[in-house]
Amino acid sequence: MCNFEPTLEFARDLDKKDVLASFRNRFIIPENTIYMDGNSLGLMPEDSEASIKRVLNEWKNLAIRGWLEANPPWFYLPEKIGAMCAPLVGGEPEELIVTGSTTVNIYSVLSSFYKPQGKKKKILADKITFPSDIYAIKSFLKLKGMDENTDLVFVDSEDGKTLSEEKICEMMTDEIAIVFLPSVLYRSGQLLDIPYLTKKAHEKNIPIGFDCCHSAGVVPHKFSENGVDFAVWCSYKYLNAGPGASAFIYINKKHFDKTPGMTGWFGYNKEKQFEMSYEFEHEKSAGGWQISTPALLSTAPVEGSLKIFEEAGIERIREKSKMLTSYLVYLINIFNNQQYGYNIGTPIDPEKRSGHIAIEHKTEAWRICEALKNKNIIPDFRMPDIVRIAPVALYNTFEEVWIVARELKKIIDNKEYLKYSENIKSVS
Ligand SMILES: *Cc1c(COP(=O)(O)O)cnc(C)c1O
Repeated sequence: MCNFEPTLEFARDLDKKDVLASFRNRFIIPENTIYMDGNSLGLMPEDSEASIKRVLNEWKNLAIRGWLEANPPWFYLPEKIGAMCAPLVGGEPEELIVTGSTTVNIYSVLSSFYKPQGKKKKILADKITFPSDIYAIKSFLKLKGMDENTDLVFVDSEDGKTLSEEKICEMMTDEIAIVFLPSVLYRSGQLLDIPYLTKKAHEKNIPIGFDCCHSAGVVPHKFSENGVDFAVWCSYKYLNAGPGASAFIYINKKHFDKTPGMTGWFGYNKEKQFEMSYEFEHEKSAGGWQISTPALLSTAPVEGSLKIFEEAGIERIREKSKMLTSYLVYLINIFNNQQYGYNIGTPIDPEKRSGHIAIEHKTEAWRICEALKNKNIIPDFRMPDIVRIAPVALYNTFEEVWIVARELKKIIDNKEYLKYSENIKSVS
């Protein structure tokens, strides 16, 4: 995509030309650290710190009055933040709401869109998605009195890393009541073709939804244009809103009349919520999919973070992200010949991947991660053989990518990994 050169000068030159370079100053970067783990937990934006502090002060000074007198009023903040996120996924403002957390939101959307009828009663998912999604689907089926062994069908992966869209479509049979897939596979970083899958599912009259945890904030989507029925995603990975920050639900407006499967008073018609009626009447927007009082202190940082996305623009973020990951792949290929044992486990076409590169090393991936961390380079490790490196457009530089590639080479050249224990620790 670009005529790269393997020199540090070239990397620095790319940084000089980078139109997003100034956004790095808006983040708190741990001292002397090259942070390459923004696909697990994004760095803290100063804007998020500020929006948390604002809500804390409002709580101090306004107490209960904050619901209507805070600026913006707490009562409307989840809708406002939903609207702020809409351009990132190509949704209309009222089609998004910030609420709950991803795994719980999966139950909520499935309970709204899964309508088994006769033999059309199966959920189509995939074998290599993030496990929490599968746990949720299985226990959701159990709650519905269905059989998790026969009513959940999986698309398999031939190489254990990627999925074939054609194969997924072949499995969209008359027995499928709903399709639920990740937009991006969390290990390999493969980006699925959402427009194509949505079109095919709709040809078979099957509702389709996506878990976009690994694409929100790095890959632009066009949910409304594509007619995606629903989606969920978290806000602490590329969206940088902090550990466990409130997550998102997207509901296509053609479904606003459907009663949400899991209801609570915050999904009530907003005008009448405080009439406290026992007859539930949902708000006819994604806001109707709220259940509880919004977790304001986990919601506020999302607002701060999204200000940065409004300024930077998701298209420019995607362009830089593709350049960063492509430069990393280029350097690994140049610096490390086959004897190094590194293999790129991510689709080579940048259009078919998200924001990280899975560098595989058959025998030493864990110890290579340990060696990187000892150099204050933060990757993450995925069992059994993957070093994930996520250079994030808003705060990483091409120079940092260059350094990571050089260190990956040195770790093998000098057998630095031998210094570390082979015992894998659980959280990385
Ligand atoms: C990160 C991630 C989650 C996390 O779910 P939580 O409920 O926020 O813990 C779920 N699914 C996918 C695909 C993810 O990438």
